[in-house]
Amino acid sequence: MAAACAVARTVCRPPQTRTGARPLLPNPSQPSAATSVHPRFMSSFSPDLVICGGGLSAKACALALAQTGLRVTLLGARPVAALPADAYTLRVYAINAASCQLLDQLRVWPQIPAARVQPVRAMHIQADGARLEFDAQQEQVEALAWIVESDAIEAALDLALGFERGVHRDAEHAVRLTRQPGSAAGWDVHTADGRTLRAPLLVGADGEHSLVRRSAGIATDTHDYVQRGLVTHFVCAAPADGVAYQTFADGGVIALLPLPPLQGQPMVSLVWSAPQPLAQDLLSLSADALASRVQAYLPALGATHLAPLQPAGGVGSWPLQRQLARRLVADGVALIGDAAHRVHPLAGQGLNLGLQDVQALAHTLQQRRPGQAVNDPRLLRRYARARAEQVLALATATDALARLYAAHSLVPAPLRALGLRATNALPAVKHLLSRYASGLPYLA
Ligand SMILES: Cc1cc2nc3c(=O)[nH]c(=O)nc-3n(C[C@H](O)[C@H](O)[C@H](O)COP(=O)(O)OP(=O)(O)OC[C@H]3O[C@@H](n4cnc5c(N)ncnc54)[C@H](O)[C@@H]3O)c2cc1C
Repeated sequence: MAAACAVARTVCRPPQTRTGARPLLPNPSQPSAATSVHPRFMSSFSPDLVICGGGLSAKACALALAQTGLRVTLLGARPVAALPADAYTLRVYAINAASCQLLDQLRVWPQIPAARVQPVRAMHIQADGARLEFDAQQEQVEALAWIVESDAIEAALDLALGFERGVHRDAEHAVRLTRQPGSAAGWDVHTADGRTLRAPLLVGADGEHSLVRRSAGIATDTHDYVQRGLVTHFVCAAPADGVAYQTFADGGVIALLPLPPLQGQPMVSLVWSAPQPLAQDLLSLSADALASRVQAYLPALGATHLAPLQPAGGVGSWPLQRQLARRLVADGVALIGDAAHRVHPLAGQGLNLGLQDVQALAHTLQQRRPGQAVNDPRLLRRYARARAEQVLALATATDALARLYAAHSLVPAPLRALGLRATNALPAVKHLLSRYASGLPYLA
């Protein structure tokens, strides 16, 4: 265990400067991601696999698989805009140690500006008058997680992809997918601009409405939480000092995540999983009125020192669902990321699960025997087995927590408070929980 923690500490520290970054060789033949690849160029590039999807899971997967020597076409990938210097972009993620390690191996983590990475040194969770605290020092890790903007990770992925010879980025979306006849055959991928790409393996990283998943005939089990996840940032009166606050309240699950100070101002990011009608109400408020509503929860969050909160940017919201694909693989198809599973954001684990899919798929394909096809069903089944336990465990745990603290919960508040206090009093249980959330093997 100590050895694994040491790895996390060493590997996951964000760099203070860019000078320590491993140099990457420029690739003069790499087409610009801004444009779709020229058909003449495409015909000379016959990929081992096509990844459908332009999000973080897809881009990380393209890099990881190319680094194992595979030739990858990444479909639907557009480069993200440059980060504004004077504001944070809306979406921020809590990145766990396992994801951090993967991004480091892909030479992506060192390219994220250190000034836009906030290590989480403690986590305070309050509900029903009880409190549960996690502390990085007690867990003997450098940080419990790292808060980073989605765009900052994506910009670093774009940079690394620009140097990767094995990846061809293509901005077009897939509009139709057809299976070629024959047991070992692959897929024809028809693009929005009328081209057809052919590859033995198709990786579906195309999000919740995944065309790949539907084309492979993979059904999903879906539960609608009838909630929306509201996200916005605030300037606060005092630094959150690396502490993430979360409360389970009548109005839903409210989290304030620490952000690095911006132009000397302390900042936090809100993730409020609110029941649908309340979410609509909150979305209709002015920025100042929303800040006041959040401020009213600071005592419940144990964070009154952050008041007053001032709005700092726009508000976004997403419907919250648990959606699990019944299978992660089919003939010549593997699913990763939100195409495979969506979980409640209360534990900040959705993207982390997707990145761990990437790690498992790259590891599985790298282990194939000489001459073994990338779409060999035995390989794909091995990938599915490698992911089954973690995905199910996390989806079940987040679901159970969401239901436990829902307004219509069958468990009375005093009993929930007892559970939270008991957990807080048991360092070994807390250690297992934080180890599990890190994504690293928890019995290592
Ligand atoms: C409020 C909220 C807070 C969250 N906080 C966290 C957190 O702190 N930590 C965490 O780990 N996770 C968090 N998540 C979860 C995280 O947002 C998702 O898990 C993650 O964005 C999924 O990434 P993805 O690349 O798999 O899918 P997406 O981001 O959905 O990307 C799918 C991509 O595929 C492209 N695409 C779609 N169809 C096609 C097609 N036919 N052809 C080609 N491309 C296509 C789309 O354009 C898109 O670019 C949060 C979620 C919510 C709602």
